[in-house]
Amino acid sequence: MKPIHVIGGGLAGSEAAWQITRAGVPVVLHEMRPVRETDAHLTDGLAELVCSNSFRSDDAENNAVGLLHEEMRRLGSLIMASGDATKLPAGGALAVDRVAFSDQVTARLEAEPLVTVERGEVEGLPPEDWDSVIVATGPLTSPALAEAVGKLSGEAYLAFFDAIAPIIHKESIDFSKAWFQSRYDKPGPGGGTADYINCPLDETQYQAFIAALIEGGKTDFKDWEKSTPYFEGCLPIEVMAERGPETLRFGPMKPVGLHNPHRDERPHAVVQLRQDNSLGTLYNIVGFQTKLKYGEQARIFRSIPGLENADFARLGGLHRNTFINSPQLLDGKLRLKAMPRLRFAGQITGVEGYVESAAIGLMAGRFAAAERLGQDFTPPPATTAHGALLAHITGGADAATFQPMNVNFGLFPPLTPPEGKRKVRKKERKPAMSARALADLAAWLETPAEAAE
Ligand code: FAD
Repeated sequence: MKPIHVIGGGLAGSEAAWQITRAGVPVVLHEMRPVRETDAHLTDGLAELVCSNSFRSDDAENNAVGLLHEEMRRLGSLIMASGDATKLPAGGALAVDRVAFSDQVTARLEAEPLVTVERGEVEGLPPEDWDSVIVATGPLTSPALAEAVGKLSGEAYLAFFDAIAPIIHKESIDFSKAWFQSRYDKPGPGGGTADYINCPLDETQYQAFIAALIEGGKTDFKDWEKSTPYFEGCLPIEVMAERGPETLRFGPMKPVGLHNPHRDERPHAVVQLRQDNSLGTLYNIVGFQTKLKYGEQARIFRSIPGLENADFARLGGLHRNTFINSPQLLDGKLRLKAMPRLRFAGQITGVEGYVESAAIGLMAGRFAAAERLGQDFTPPPATTAHGALLAHITGGADAATFQPMNVNFGLFPPLTPPEGKRKVRKKERKPAMSARALADLAAWLETPAEAAE
């Protein structure tokens, strides 16, 4: 049987390779280290953790990443098995001994007869006789391959920086202060004239907000990030604030074309939020990419009227990160529409985090193996963490504003309220979503594979 080629032996590539072998299909895993280094990796081990040693919360009942852990365990994940085997005390989080973890992933893949690990950079598009390829080269994809992917997919659909504005759960916004309206009531792409959520600031609130942005603690760019020339186009909000007190009022916070239905006065400035997923559960703050520290973001953005109790699905950031516009470029099976022999996995698909990257690697591996075996692989339903993440990157997210995303419950379809009730009670929502996910995953696991048409 012809092997599947996996490019990149990080979190996603290692998991993809493992899943492919579980289906009895051979795999060649191409890892460029130590022949060629990245700016962040320090070893030549597979699945090296480049920064923190934490897989975040391990609480499968109340936390979406904990749920993703549990689903991965049930799907026979190598990354989770190695994480569990090398875990360190860390309260409710899953932290691992990074050296032992990477050693274990490396040893298990190298010992697997169906795996060949080839050390060396894939410089550009893979040769044509590689008929099934998974590109899992991560946020620091080597420039030669990134350039080839950019040319193939259209340069505009490949980013070298993520410029993430904070994303908020809509249900936590106070609509006694905020309101829905598009500027000048202009119809949006869907035809609606009320596509944005608006939060008004008076002059005193605006000035205090600008001062807080300027004074707030920031994270620094790493030296190697400073040399990547792609980010002038999307300045952090605090840099705009530093350019002058009115800059934001003439930029993302301009108050024109909007009428506050709650008060009969013109707002001095307005913060706008735009829908971030097709379910309409998440909204991003328009133009608010930032290098403010996470704690500072939560404090400062909660001073905006209407956002006092904001529940953040993710906070803002600006980092070096190579990723493609997956909702635009990939089909539902993670294949590049323009060249279906190439499949993408990991952080390069626009998920964020070690665990999410590995989970998309797991899905890509299963898709590729099933294809090789002539089977049809139906992904898990969108009510599971895997299904929700996959649905988000392959179509649920808005391609026009697509930015990397952690798994969170805002990506899951809403729950059906119990009979006679309008809503599921807030404190019951996360456990109910988790229980639904694990039940649906179990049912899905029992569905036999079908032959492809
Ligand atoms: P990687 O794990 O980076 O694996 C990609 C692999 O591909 C690498 O081994 C690389 O050497 C190889 N490669 C690249 N190009 C080629 C090529 N052309 N040919 C062959 N091999 C190639 N996430 C967290 O959850 N927690 C954190 O603390 C965290 N910190 C981060 C810090 C930095 C500096 C960066 C850049 C990212 C961080 N992330 C973090 C985000 C992300 O989750 C990790 O980068 C994660 O490792 C992504 O998994 P991956 O498999 O997609 O990529």
